[in-house]
Amino acid sequence: MYQIKVDPHTHTIASGHAFSTIGENAMEAHGKGLEGIGMTDHFGPMSNPIGNDGRPDLGPLFNIAALPKVVHGVRVLAGCEIDIIDFKGNLAFHDFRMPFGPDKDKGLSLGEIILRNRDIAIASLHMFPGCRDGSIVQNTEMYLGAIRNPYIDILGHPCRPGVPFDMDEIVRAAKEEHTFLEINDHTFDTPAATDNCRKLAVKCAEEGVHVVVSSDAHSAFFVGEFGRAAAMLEEIHFPQELIANESLEKMARLRGRTY
Ligand SMILES: [Zn+2]
Ligand SMILES: [Zn+2]
Repeated sequence: MYQIKVDPHTHTIASGHAFSTIGENAMEAHGKGLEGIGMTDHFGPMSNPIGNDGRPDLGPLFNIAALPKVVHGVRVLAGCEIDIIDFKGNLAFHDFRMPFGPDKDKGLSLGEIILRNRDIAIASLHMFPGCRDGSIVQNTEMYLGAIRNPYIDILGHPCRPGVPFDMDEIVRAAKEEHTFLEINDHTFDTPAATDNCRKLAVKCAEEGVHVVVSSDAHSAFFVGEFGRAAAMLEEIHFPQELIANESLEKMARLRGRTY
């Protein structure tokens, strides 16, 4: 049995297609003995709910300061799951400048304004039109771009089927950049993903690269549920030392962050 005290990847109703509030997610995490959860709602032109003006509703992402850091005794890391939008690994709104805003944000893109104010950031591919059906070379470049982005802590669900990439290169880059590769329990809904996850985890174990194990819960009931991912890791005798979300302290230390 692994010790995993943080679920770094969970969604709330602010994602538009998830069902629970921060309070409900934190309560579930507390009941399961977790120290922390990542509140990583979607951030991207296609992933957010659509507002009255027909554009993505990013409102909650700008209002993180309205939330307490600790809810029901659980540290809630204010984060986001940002879309990878092209084969260079650029992230959502990387080229969109805000026409107004405080001086401290002048010259920054909308993407950077959001990312630099997060405790945790996951970059994921959600089949954005600019990066569908890529070749191995294209997908590898795309993931390398995301891994090398200094704001990104975690490469989200890289084991989803249909996105082949060069695992050796990605694992090497993750090691250099201290970016975590995600073993996402939700991915195991697709049986073909298990094999991809196993291959990636074996390489991470060989190279001494840290992973995070996450639920990607879209309702509170699944927060802290990583049974399938953990069973696969146990099967291959994946070392506990390489699970970054063993504790909040370990995650923060490995990423040079303060929670
Ligand atoms: Zn995702
Ligand atoms: Zn997610």
